[in-house]
Amino acid sequence: MCQSVDVPCPLRKRSRPDFSMIQAAQHNINPNSPLTKRVLVLNRLYMAVRIVPARRAFQLLCKNLAEVIAVEDGRYYNYDFSTWMELGILQASEEQDDNDDWVQTVRFAIPVPRVVRLLTYDRLPQRQIKLNRRNIMARDHHTCQYCEYQGSSSHLTIDHIVPRSKGGKDTWTNLATACKKCNSRKGGRTPEQANMPLLHPPKKPRINPMVTARLRVERYECWNVFLKNANWAVDVR
Ligand SMILES: [Zn+2]
Repeated sequence: MCQSVDVPCPLRKRSRPDFSMIQAAQHNINPNSPLTKRVLVLNRLYMAVRIVPARRAFQLLCKNLAEVIAVEDGRYYNYDFSTWMELGILQASEEQDDNDDWVQTVRFAIPVPRVVRLLTYDRLPQRQIKLNRRNIMARDHHTCQYCEYQGSSSHLTIDHIVPRSKGGKDTWTNLATACKKCNSRKGGRTPEQANMPLLHPPKKPRINPMVTARLRVERYECWNVFLKNANWAVDVR
């Protein structure tokens, strides 16, 4: 799958590549464009810190703020952007791997990297996961924890398991997703008083639930080497 953009050929001009056309094109990006593919971002210490769309990864590469990490057979290889583009040109002249996504420029194609590493950012990933409506619903898979109704956020509410009127706090273990009907039926009672048992005891998630949800559908195998020991609140941008 290709998105056509005008990028000067790095073989013609070896100085820092001008990626302004990709940046300019981002306002018109088709949702199926390879520029929307997800890229795992590592800090300088090879720790996963966030997941970004490919267009953002290309911006980081273009500004020399990041390098490409290519994972092959569990080992990884580092490439600066110019080298990555030249490798892409060589690869494209031989054969393009169907598993790769390519950004088609006027003169050549660039493979979308799956992983990039920030060259100067060495802060540790943020460990605190925000307690908010979006994350609670993602943790509960957008499912009412009383009746198993599954729906969009607008059809769901956040229930205080022990009601605030009875001293219930805003915590991961006291908040659960509930459909409007169940929330109204339960009212100011505990699950025991209302005879409405929870499907699952709510827990504080180990990884940002929005990321977990995305990883279920968008995870690439080459990310595993960086994610298997991850215990952080990696962010989605
Ligand atoms: Zn319900």
